[in-house]
Amino acid sequence: MTSDLILIDNGHGAETPGKCSPDGRLREYAWTREIARRVCGKLKSLGYDARLLVPELNDVSLRERVRRVNSVCAGAGSDNVLSVSIHVNAAGTGQWHNASGWTAWVAPKASQRSRKLAMLLNAEAVNLNLKGNRSREPFFTGNFAILRDTKCPAVLTENMFQDNLHDVAYLLSDRGQSEITDLHITAITKYLNSK
Ligand SMILES: [Zn+2]
Repeated sequence: MTSDLILIDNGHGAETPGKCSPDGRLREYAWTREIARRVCGKLKSLGYDARLLVPELNDVSLRERVRRVNSVCAGAGSDNVLSVSIHVNAAGTGQWHNASGWTAWVAPKASQRSRKLAMLLNAEAVNLNLKGNRSREPFFTGNFAILRDTKCPAVLTENMFQDNLHDVAYLLSDRGQSEITDLHITAITKYLNSK
């Protein structure tokens, strides 16, 4: 068993505007919070040291999220910390779109470790046939503060699209929620056990 610290970051706060499905059934902050809670709880039950980066319900700024990750890194050593941010993608706002599927993101100058974790996560999404009409590349690069400015291996997952009717039905289903939870658990534990 590893002594690594796993930080699970759920995307947004309750008052973040515009982050929901066109019919309002899926709200990104609520969905990602639930998945983050499940991922964290399951990792803990498996004996890992997993923590929610943002236990609060309100929106916590990116700057503060980055500060929290880096303060854990300062204490534990960056190589012993892992950060995973859980989001739901959107193609636009206010109406349904055709874009669908699951993607992983790392910073443009991401470490090999970040890339490896992204590939492991993506492999699980491929196994579950969740790629939709997204690129088959194992990951995308994005200049996101939570990836770019954090000192530990860091990956952001965009778990399907909140403005795709099919994806939303999947994300709101019991099967969808447990598959997406397990996708994160399997990839994170594979990563930690192969360090
Ligand atoms: Zn988001």
